[in-house]
Amino acid sequence: MKLYNTSTRKMQEFKPLGDEVRIYTCGPTVYSEAHIGNLTAYIYWDLLVRTLRADGYTVRRVLNLTDVGHLVSDGDEGEDKLEKGAAREGRSVWEVAEAYIEKFRQDYQSLELVEPEVWARATDYIGEDMQAVDLMTERGFTYETSDGIYYDTAKFDRYADFAKLDLAGLQAGARVGFSEEKRNASDFAVWKFIKPGEKHAMRWDYLGRPGYPGWHLECATIIHHELGEPIDIHCGGIDHIPVHHTNEIAECYAAYGSELSRYWMHCDFITIDGEKISKSLGNTFSLGDLSERGFSPMDYKMWVLSGHYQGTRNFTFESLEAAKQRRLNWRNKIALLYQTTARNGSCPTPFSSGRSGPLGQVLGPSEKDVRPPVSDVFGTILNSLNHNLNSAEAFAVIDTSELAMEDWRKVDELFGLRLMTDSPDIDDEVREMIAERQAAREAKDYAESDRLRDLLAERGIGLLDTADGPVWQYLI
Ligand code: AMP
Ligand code: ZN
Repeated sequence: MKLYNTSTRKMQEFKPLGDEVRIYTCGPTVYSEAHIGNLTAYIYWDLLVRTLRADGYTVRRVLNLTDVGHLVSDGDEGEDKLEKGAAREGRSVWEVAEAYIEKFRQDYQSLELVEPEVWARATDYIGEDMQAVDLMTERGFTYETSDGIYYDTAKFDRYADFAKLDLAGLQAGARVGFSEEKRNASDFAVWKFIKPGEKHAMRWDYLGRPGYPGWHLECATIIHHELGEPIDIHCGGIDHIPVHHTNEIAECYAAYGSELSRYWMHCDFITIDGEKISKSLGNTFSLGDLSERGFSPMDYKMWVLSGHYQGTRNFTFESLEAAKQRRLNWRNKIALLYQTTARNGSCPTPFSSGRSGPLGQVLGPSEKDVRPPVSDVFGTILNSLNHNLNSAEAFAVIDTSELAMEDWRKVDELFGLRLMTDSPDIDDEVREMIAERQAAREAKDYAESDRLRDLLAERGIGLLDTADGPVWQYLI
């Protein structure tokens, strides 16, 4: 497998360090409902895990849930996101975290994403965070200011390397005020103090006063305790490169003296109708909002996977509709395979590429039924994914190849698109209605035949009259 590694800026052959591939994915800050932009990352990293498993690897993955310490700005100022959520909803920070963890896990399931081996909640690792700060301090990497313990980035000579940061430029652009207490503009809080009178519900006593961990620290300590560094692959969004991941790397080096991860993968953002996703533009759609417009989580997943994780993607409802139709088309290919297999015993005659047109069009058996052996089609699909997760190319292979039922089963396992479960065989009642409609048609009772056809359509089943007899297809 070849992956683009952010840390080397190169496409590299992936080689895990041990028998198990250890992966860490930066998870959500649980202070509000995830919008579809937030969810794209988990869809891409799910494909990474599924591809590695299809390649025969054993994967151990940790996904964290940030329920503390993430401030509104990436610097160390501004409101704490959890406090902000609590104020907005008139609930406690703990209730807010609980509610949005639950919501995130529901979204996760509805997108058919493989559960990580460990869901790591930041507040379960506060003791480990304190130990890490002790270690960083013992090794001379920190200093104290009036509002916390800061990391002295000048002490880590490779600090700028990962993100290719211009530290001199950062220093020149630094704002006056609080930053005067910081030694370098890029220094960041590993632990924040809560000042007397300051409202901050989540608080732990450390160094004789109340405080809470800086945001980046949880990832370094969770990786250390749950996976052991260096891990094989660390994933996140491109916005994490200059601050969050740079700081995780620095903390890991200072506390544990080691590299954090061998490979780093970053996905790009989605825009909606060319605009950034934001509350003020009213384009922060959740999965629930898509559902109200008639699109399932699987339609959205299909849309995400039809592009590449490293490209900026522009979301439109037209392109979502196209993704929905493409999935419907795949399900109907599966439906046709069920029927031809049942009809011909073991020898299905599926549509050749390009012949599966819109419903209503009469489709016959393909002219040439030269299908490559099963493993070749699936092998080609997997090969595309092994090339830096090129799901767009893999989808094109699926569109243009004839897949056998076993191929579809494997494709479904590879992408998690519920193609098989959403395309089961029809029930006896529907089968009976199709037979009755066929009998009416043969008896030239067209009124009855049309009535039954409409009834079937109400159940989401359409009929195609082919030379081999009627073929049912899904309409939705
Ligand atoms: P936020 O809640 O806006 O801080 O976003 C949390 C994370 O979700 C960010 O750090 C990004 O990695 C990711 N994210 C936010 N917006 C988008 C977007 N439009 N497209 C893709 N990822 C996004
Ligand atoms: Zn992280």
